[in-house]
Amino acid sequence: MSHADRILMGPGPGNPYPQVIKAFGRPVLGHLDPDFIALLDETNDRLREVFRTTNPLTFPVSATGSAGMEATIVNVLGPGDTVVIGVNGVFGERMCDVASRCGATVVRVDAEWGWALDPQDLLDAHPDPKVIAVVHAETSTGVRNDIAPIGAGKGDALLLVDCVTSLAGIPLEIDAWGVDLAYSGTQKCLGVPPGLSPVTVSAAAIERFVEKSPSWYLDLQMIAEYVTSGGARAYHHTAPISMIYALHAGLGVVLEEGLENVQARHQACGDKLQAGLVDRGFELFAQEGHRLPELTSVMVPIDRLPEGSDEAGVRTRLLTEYGIEIGGGLGPVAGKVWRIGCMGHTARIRNVTLLLAALDEILD
Ligand SMILES: *Cc1c(COP(=O)(O)O)cnc(C)c1O
Repeated sequence: MSHADRILMGPGPGNPYPQVIKAFGRPVLGHLDPDFIALLDETNDRLREVFRTTNPLTFPVSATGSAGMEATIVNVLGPGDTVVIGVNGVFGERMCDVASRCGATVVRVDAEWGWALDPQDLLDAHPDPKVIAVVHAETSTGVRNDIAPIGAGKGDALLLVDCVTSLAGIPLEIDAWGVDLAYSGTQKCLGVPPGLSPVTVSAAAIERFVEKSPSWYLDLQMIAEYVTSGGARAYHHTAPISMIYALHAGLGVVLEEGLENVQARHQACGDKLQAGLVDRGFELFAQEGHRLPELTSVMVPIDRLPEGSDEAGVRTRLLTEYGIEIGGGLGPVAGKVWRIGCMGHTARIRNVTLLLAALDEILD
């Protein structure tokens, strides 16, 4: 089977939109070429539309989603600062690691894997944190954490949200929910290959930046000068031109289809997949009412694995016989849970139909 035929339903990169692949073929301009700068400005405008924000400091960090996490954290947290972090999966855990490397005092609020965080627990965890940080869509568990109530009750704290798997997949309102810092990734619901991390930062957060970020590359004060200066750009680093073309094209697809329509398409695929799995006797892993449509987590059907096969064997057969990649479990649920992505261009009903049919053929 040709690699080009693969349907990527894992939690990692999905299939890019065809328009995105085409964008990679555009002639490579210089990174200070006025035509490139205009395209970058338009990309940032498009990002503001999908983030639902007017923040001037909105742009793609030149690296993957984890760099967006690091960029947002390293510019607001230093020694002596306190951050409350919600942890109910791998990515909340990663935020704790990054924040503690900055010397911040980390107050963890844990929820069991598969369950959502209680916003009130985050608000009650510390009387005066500088930052409250939470993952909107936990890709390791398929759980959505509620953001709006945290924004409503945050007081003087800055609210920092991981939107890597939520941006363009489920409703997200940066300004209306009071989110001060957010980062995403191109390869989840935006339908673009991995490589950039869209970031947005409020004026309130900029005012409370650490004096000097210990990271040169991710120093948002330096980057803000050239992102928000409008026109005259100084050299900071060489923008990854072709990736910006790709993001620009992916955002164009999303906005042309309509952000709400794209979210509805993700929802319809998630609904069909989850209903189809339940019909077949599977047990969904994520807490009801907090299930992500774009990432379905389901208990491995141990008693229905084919003779002599483990769960990894089923995933291998899906890949080699049907060209469908699904993801395994991470951390405490490794080997126990499958994670099935339905994101961006991959979020098509026909892909769900094919996966369910393939499972019918493989499983007892
Ligand atoms: C994928 C992901 C990340 C990390 O993004 P990379 O592109 O792998 O660096 C962070 N947070 C969440 C919720 C993710 O799903």
